[in-house]
Amino acid sequence: MRDGELTCRELVELVSDYLEGALPASERRRFERHLEDCPLCVDYVDQMRTTLAVLGRLDEDAMDEPVREDLVRAFRDWPRGGATEA
Ligand SMILES: [Zn+2]
Repeated sequence: MRDGELTCRELVELVSDYLEGALPASERRRFERHLEDCPLCVDYVDQMRTTLAVLGRLDEDAMDEPVREDLVRAFRDWPRGGATEA
């Protein structure tokens, strides 16, 4: 496992574990550091947190797959280096 910056794509994969408190402390720290620099992911986590509050759980099968794909595509189009600052 790399110890560098979390990518947006990795964050999307980890969000359910994060919200369920299932992430190891080191991963959680990387996750939160990414959120400090990436408003797009803050919005995504907020949406997932709301989903969790409404449903009481995160069921990835119930997620809107096109929305997820849109997010991944948006992340891919994100200007290089634009999501992180030194
Ligand atoms: Zn991000």
